[in-house]
Amino acid sequence: MISRDSYRQIDLYAPDRSPCATDLSDNTNLWGVPPHAARAVREAHASAVTRYPSLYAAELKGALAKAAGVSADMVVTGCGSDDVLDSAIRAFTEPGDRVAVPHPSFAMIPIFARMNGLEPVLVPLSNGTALDADAMLATAARVIYLCSPNNPTGNLLDAGEVARVVREAPGVVIVDEAYVDFADADALDLLDSSDRLLICRTMSKAYGLAGLRMGYALGAPALVAEVEKSRGPYKVNALAERAALAALREDGPWVREHVAEAVANRERLADELRAREIEPLPSAANFLLAPVPDAADMAALLRARGVAVRPFVDLPAIGDALRISVGPWEMMQAFLDAFDDASGEVACS
Ligand code: PMP
Repeated sequence: MISRDSYRQIDLYAPDRSPCATDLSDNTNLWGVPPHAARAVREAHASAVTRYPSLYAAELKGALAKAAGVSADMVVTGCGSDDVLDSAIRAFTEPGDRVAVPHPSFAMIPIFARMNGLEPVLVPLSNGTALDADAMLATAARVIYLCSPNNPTGNLLDAGEVARVVREAPGVVIVDEAYVDFADADALDLLDSSDRLLICRTMSKAYGLAGLRMGYALGAPALVAEVEKSRGPYKVNALAERAALAALREDGPWVREHVAEAVANRERLADELRAREIEPLPSAANFLLAPVPDAADMAALLRARGVAVRPFVDLPAIGDALRISVGPWEMMQAFLDAFDDASGEVACS
């Protein structure tokens, strides 16, 4: 075999992404592209395609820093936050080190760990959703990953417990805030007291730019500089940089309006599910996790009715569940109609 030994334990990340009339499977912005970002792409000069982009997206770092209220040397960008997370995990570890990851959480983190010759250590969330700070710290891992709001459970992690992990961890702590725009709390204030905290964010969710791949992280200048080395040059393409700049400078009202609608629709969808005796987990993100008896089966029935959601099987303390992205109400209604129809089929069989 010519592959690396450690790569044999890696499965290709390949969820079912075949086209579906109503795709509620990836938590992107289902209202579309912010208008100024769309115009920036449409009107881009040919050199955005023919020439290399900027090395480390300096102008964009300035705009991201301004939006977050930090200095530009506290920002690192990447080709999606996937790239930033991968680079960060690599930057602060030696092959063979451990990366502590709550379970369940973002499925790519154990894969990035293995891709970098590291050992992912999965630490169950208490009662299925709560950060177990003692267990995370007990791993003594060189990198501790946390996700808040957490994917797929949707809840914010307890701020005091996150602060304790950041304070007591022996190495770097990554707090993934991909869904922070939909929540009413973040970990930014911890940056003042820790030079080993990296807060990772993305423009793929609230900002509607998933296809362009633009993610970033905030942290102490020396920390961010290491991630940038590990990441390498030219990772944010020129169209992504232009669109992200336009979105940050001019699409704030559009983003805020649709975040508010997502939050309202999330609560309305939760009510509709409860009326069907499904109790979704409390969510601070743009998706709901709804426990169901047989998630794989239900997801297949929904897909056959033109609705894609993400099934999770046998989650600790939760069991099977569907993760449903929240979008415009017509899409939520399409989901509910398909769900009612599919439930009818399950009941008859
Ligand atoms: N973190 C979390 C928690 C996510 O759910 C995702 C995407 N599903 C990402 C990071 C990666 O996002 P992107 O690479 O598009 O920035």
